[in-house]
Amino acid sequence: MRLWIDPRKCTGCLRCELACSFHHSGHVSFQPERSSLRVSRSNVDKSMRIAFDDSCDGCAGERSPLCVRACVFNALGVHKGVAA
Ligand code: SF4
Ligand code: SF4
Repeated sequence: MRLWIDPRKCTGCLRCELACSFHHSGHVSFQPERSSLRVSRSNVDKSMRIAFDDSCDGCAGERSPLCVRACVFNALGVHKGVAA
């Protein structure tokens, strides 16, 4: 499972960070510090950056990646037909 990102569509709402922390907490809490992805904005050109770290497990055990489901702006998605 591979995720694609489109930072141009990102509004910085941080719903994805909350959703990811919900996954890592075992559906117990929302703690952005536990998120595998970080959203930030450049103070130079206002561009958005979305970065994943090694703690991303592809949302193992979930029906689909929670970060993707949480992003209502279509800035995150899953590549179709990609296994790894
Ligand atoms: S949920 Fe989507 S729009 Fe919101 S910060 Fe995350 S990537 Fe950006
Ligand atoms: S796929 Fe799951 S674990 Fe990986 S960044 Fe998205 S919400 Fe977090």
